[in-house]
Amino acid sequence: MRVVLLLALVAFVVIVLLPLLRRPLARGARRPVAVSDELVKDPVCQTYVVRSRAVRGRGADGAPYFCSEECASRYVS
Ligand SMILES: [Zn+2]
Repeated sequence: MRVVLLLALVAFVVIVLLPLLRRPLARGARRPVAVSDELVKDPVCQTYVVRSRAVRGRGADGAPYFCSEECASRYVS
């Protein structure tokens, strides 16, 4: 009988308490603002664009960044 109670207690801890303990950790583990999400400036129209959505230039590191293909082609010419 004791074993059953012990198992019930363990099951209670696993089912009820562990998710409660994990929640703050999951919140802390939420990915920080990625480097690719920082704002970059379009040198043609001076607009700030999220880097992951920006059109990349032809530099070695993909810079400079542009808001659109139009600005990218305008920068080259
Ligand atoms: Zn632009």
